[in-house]
Amino acid sequence: MNLQERQMKPYSRIGLFCLGLTLLTGDLLIARGQQGLVADNPTALLRLGDKVIKVNEAISMVEGFGNTFMVTTPEGNVIVDTSIALHARKHHQLLAAENKGPIKYIILTHGHGDHTGGVPLWKQPGTQIIAQKNHVEFIHYQTRLAGFYSKRNAAQFGLNVPDVGAWAGNYGGKIEPTILFDDKYEFTLGGVKFEIYSAPSETYDHLMVWVPKYKAVFTGDVYYESFPNIYTLRGTKPRWALDYVSSLNKALAFKPDLVLPSHGMPIRGNDEITRRLTRYRDAIQYVHDEVVKGMNAGKDVYSLMREIKLPPALEVGESYGKLTWSIRGIYEGYVGWFDTNPTTMYETPASAVYPDIVKLAGGPDAVAALAIERAQIDPVAALHLTDIALAADPNHRKSLEARLKALEILRSGCKNTNERGWLDYGIKATTARLGAQR
Ligand SMILES: [Zn+2]
Repeated sequence: MNLQERQMKPYSRIGLFCLGLTLLTGDLLIARGQQGLVADNPTALLRLGDKVIKVNEAISMVEGFGNTFMVTTPEGNVIVDTSIALHARKHHQLLAAENKGPIKYIILTHGHGDHTGGVPLWKQPGTQIIAQKNHVEFIHYQTRLAGFYSKRNAAQFGLNVPDVGAWAGNYGGKIEPTILFDDKYEFTLGGVKFEIYSAPSETYDHLMVWVPKYKAVFTGDVYYESFPNIYTLRGTKPRWALDYVSSLNKALAFKPDLVLPSHGMPIRGNDEITRRLTRYRDAIQYVHDEVVKGMNAGKDVYSLMREIKLPPALEVGESYGKLTWSIRGIYEGYVGWFDTNPTTMYETPASAVYPDIVKLAGGPDAVAALAIERAQIDPVAALHLTDIALAADPNHRKSLEARLKALEILRSGCKNTNERGWLDYGIKATTARLGAQR
């Protein structure tokens, strides 16, 4: 998913408005208003393009949530990624008007819905659809958990819970690819050679496309302008930091003059590409290595979440992926959830004793008062306190008010798209509970 480079905090300016209908997504969010998905940063990655961008003499693209690319050849065209269903129709309309050649191939960089949403529009009789072989399992996995993900995605993006299965998004769980490969697949069309490589990263079915004639590499979501979402709050299987590193090395090894990410704009010139991708790779490697070092030194996950910071030279922004979640994702990806405390191996959570603690404190009023006192200086501590008070009395008004305050304080300083989504979800739920009391 997405962004831009000049300042590394650009993502702070990305925000959606006009939320309305829900849609699926890959990793990124989806929401729409009358004009579709919109961001308040006109150059941000969430922008829905309304024009064809001519990248070079043969490659065109339309920007969106994800981009759609078309490579033209004298014998027909190749589509790389097809955006989300919501944007795909516009992308298809614009690019099909640009060149009416037959669509010989559709290449899907991975199975997230913001890349596969337009497949039905582009597919013609005889079109070959190419994906890495893990695509099949990945689609089954998303379809198997469609109920879980539909709720989580709706929560993360502040939308109404769609029908179970709506999130499956990826052509309804159907397997569309006609060509599946393991490590490498290549074909030549109209004298243009396409080399396709497995490139696990955000998903294990991820691929990259290298077109030597144009020194162009289509990188899908291996690279975007924020630290990667090595763990996503909506939930996913572990994403391996070292997979990102090796896939970025693969991209660098092509010595490309053109990088075409599926979120954000193309990067031109090998010097600039090398600078950006190297820094990105090194940032991921650095965080991975620090987590491993800390794990071997016996540190717990929360300590590492607090302690590990990127050196200034490796700061790549956190508007989408966040360092702390990635640190925990790497840690728990390697070893799972048990923290060596015998208390936590049982099915009774800490919250089971919260009502006793509240009683000892003299009732929920006392706990809520402390939460209000803490909210300004430590809103997360205030949230914990309200968890305790509300376990004793789920409708305790002062606790709900303290909770709302703490959430709003966190929301006001929030620069990360995903974090903002969950804070909004909490604000909405708390406001509803307060409203229900009136
Ligand atoms: Zn994506």
